Amino acid sequence: MESASRRRKGPESEETRYRRDLGPPAGTNATVAADRGLEALRRVSQRLAVTDARAGKMVGRILTDLKGAAFESLAANERLARELNSLLDRLGLRAKCPKCGEPARFVCSASSRMKNGAFFFYHTSTTHGGTGTVPALKLVSKGPDKRRKPERPKKS
Ligand SMILES: [Zn+2]
Repeated sequence: MESASRRRKGPESEETRYRRDLGPPAGTNATVAADRGLEALRRVSQRLAVTDARAGKMVGRILTDLKGAAFESLAANERLARELNSLLDRLGLRAKCPKCGEPARFVCSASSRMKNGAFFFYHTSTTHGGTGTVPALKLVSKGPDKRRKPERPKKS
């Protein structure tokens, strides 16, 4: 006799899909359990990578539309830059600086020349740009985190 719950059709939950993908329980074998866990973690990573890639493309399109845009207050422009920058951070992306070509954080800050703030490409050692509206923005990979680079003694 078939149980009623088996026949019920509806959207499959993440949990159900995860259990099904995982297969039957591993029992007590530690290596098998570790293998299954690792495989499941990789599957989550792969799924995230697909989602991230899609989000990155979407942000690229939004940036095309944002070119030349600006709010009429410093606070609002700062918010716009912060929102973009934190999203890029999550996606492992940076804005490509049009001047030096290096990955940069995109920021807006007060400027003596721009009433509502200026948009900059912020590097750790220097800053480029300074426009009153959002410039053309290209996205690049964030690259290795230079802040955490261990200092190695130079070989003589
Ligand atoms: Zn630059």
